[in-house]
Amino acid sequence: LLQVRDVSKRFERPAVVGASFTLQRGRTLGIVGESGSGKTTLARMLIGVEAPDAGRLQWTSPQRIQLVHQNPLGALDPRWTIGRSITEALQAAGVPRGERPRAMASLLAEAGLDERLSLRRPRELSGGQRQRAAIARALAADPQVLVLDEPVSALDPTVRARMLELLARLQTERLLTMVFVSHDLAVVAAVCDDVLVMRDGVIVEQGAVAEVFAEPRHPFTRELIAAGL
Ligand code: ATP
Repeated sequence: LLQVRDVSKRFERPAVVGASFTLQRGRTLGIVGESGSGKTTLARMLIGVEAPDAGRLQWTSPQRIQLVHQNPLGALDPRWTIGRSITEALQAAGVPRGERPRAMASLLAEAGLDERLSLRRPRELSGGQRQRAAIARALAADPQVLVLDEPVSALDPTVRARMLELLARLQTERLLTMVFVSHDLAVVAAVCDDVLVMRDGVIVEQGAVAEVFAEPRHPFTRELIAAGL
């Protein structure tokens, strides 16, 4: 679906250095690494809001791609009700006015939210509900690819488990390709098919999750596993 070749980006310092990997259709790719290792920068280049200094990102065909941010308040306008945020996204996606109310209700249901919550503003929702609202809003664009930047790290364990169930369900039902940025290895092991391990902007190891976590080859991956799983 996507071939990334030798992609680099620097700000004051190199943030991503020579990243090469492929994203396969219908699979979930985890990007793990410590804070500041370049995960978010790489994700931002995938969605096209950050341009690489060098290297190429080659999509096999144009994809509708949406980002779900760590802090859903970034995607949901604090002044607007959830319903309005989703409706605006439907409008931006070209859904005719008359179909928007029903589409909005169906997105809320798909994200596991009670329709009555559409009248609330983001700050009147719990963290989990807010994250679900952000997902519903992202789905309004009918994406083929969903990039999730730390989507569950701010949630408590029960809410997190239910959010992961939702993501797994969306992936099967919508045949989504997902990129899942996380510093939490247990979460990545639970939801991802493939994984990239990043350290100081460099992908030090990549492969199928089952293999990388069972037999890590790079010492840094072993360190992360020892510390995190
Ligand atoms: P975190 O988990 O804390 O979000 P990360 O692994 O996602 O970390 P990035 O956010 O990609 O890491 O940051 C990688 C490096 O690039 C850091 O040193 C960061 O300070 C720097 N960086 C990222 N974005 C910018 C920017 N817009 N301007 C300047 N420096 C930046």
